[in-house]
Amino acid sequence: MKKIGILTSGGDAPGMNAAIRAITKSAMHYGIQAIGIRDGFEGLMKGRFVNMKYTDVDNIIQRGGTILGSARCPEFKNAEARKSAVANVKEAGIDGLVVIGGDGSFRGANVLAKEVDIPVIGLPGTIDNDLYGTDSTIGYDTALNTIVEAVDKIRDTATSHKRVFLVEVMGRDSGFLALNSAIASGAESVLIPETITDIEAIAAQIKSQNKGRRSSIIIVAEGDEEGGAMEIMAKLRPHLENFKLRTTILGHIQRGGVPSYFDRALATRSGIMAVELLMAGKTEKMVGVKADELITVDLKDAIEKKAIPKVEREELLAKLLTK
Ligand code: ADP
Repeated sequence: MKKIGILTSGGDAPGMNAAIRAITKSAMHYGIQAIGIRDGFEGLMKGRFVNMKYTDVDNIIQRGGTILGSARCPEFKNAEARKSAVANVKEAGIDGLVVIGGDGSFRGANVLAKEVDIPVIGLPGTIDNDLYGTDSTIGYDTALNTIVEAVDKIRDTATSHKRVFLVEVMGRDSGFLALNSAIASGAESVLIPETITDIEAIAAQIKSQNKGRRSSIIIVAEGDEEGGAMEIMAKLRPHLENFKLRTTILGHIQRGGVPSYFDRALATRSGIMAVELLMAGKTEKMVGVKADELITVDLKDAIEKKAIPKVEREELLAKLLTK
């Protein structure tokens, strides 16, 4: 193996830079040139390649976002359009590729691997944690911490003014961020796409909770079947005329920021493993983590199977959230 291409694609996530650094440094360790590909699949199609040097990855482990840039590139779904990407890879002599991104990026990586005929490894870089086969994706832990910190602040004002706050968090059609931030922030309720949302039951719950307490926090996953925080508030309002309802949509602050220890360490370990997998000729695998051990998962499974948030004691959790 002589040249490993690295690209970041789809939604950015804290820790992507730590992964780029680890891949670049471990490639150099093995005498391989790392090639940075700018702006995801778009840069691959346009041949925006840079030879990575040690100095390019100095001082980036602590930075959010991605120094390579990321992009949504719908044309990449078109086989005809992908031909330019294949030609650019061949011309540059890239003989292994690491794609850091979410499930969409892995779909792209999977089709490309077959067309370009070089090994391709995926690193899960998404705050949503919605990839099957891994306990945690790179960026998820940092985003959870960002949400919890924000909810703590909202709680202060909610309590001062006796308000019910609906806080909308990201996660697309997955409830990992919502469920686990609700547990860690002591929220009174959480709405996630994986469970049925019963508006009347939530209204009844808020009424009973509010006897003797000054605030309620409801975490709403953006992909909930009843809608985001604004829609849920509109649906709750007729049932809760005597309550002061407010919404906060946390938005893109969840995607940015300094990566946590956990995300830096996970990205670093996974980046090293990605290089070693490519050197061993492994392809169409995702590097994941289970009980702190790095593992590999078929990219196909990571994309096609559904990752479901886990709770060990559902009944107890329900009590903690509602009482
Ligand atoms: P994420 O990787 O965060 O899930 P997206 O779903 O936006 O983000 O996907 C990122 C990019 O991956 C898309 O802009 C597109 O270039 C590529 N991609 C997504 N789905 C496919 C597909 N079915 N075939 C080829 N490329 C795809």
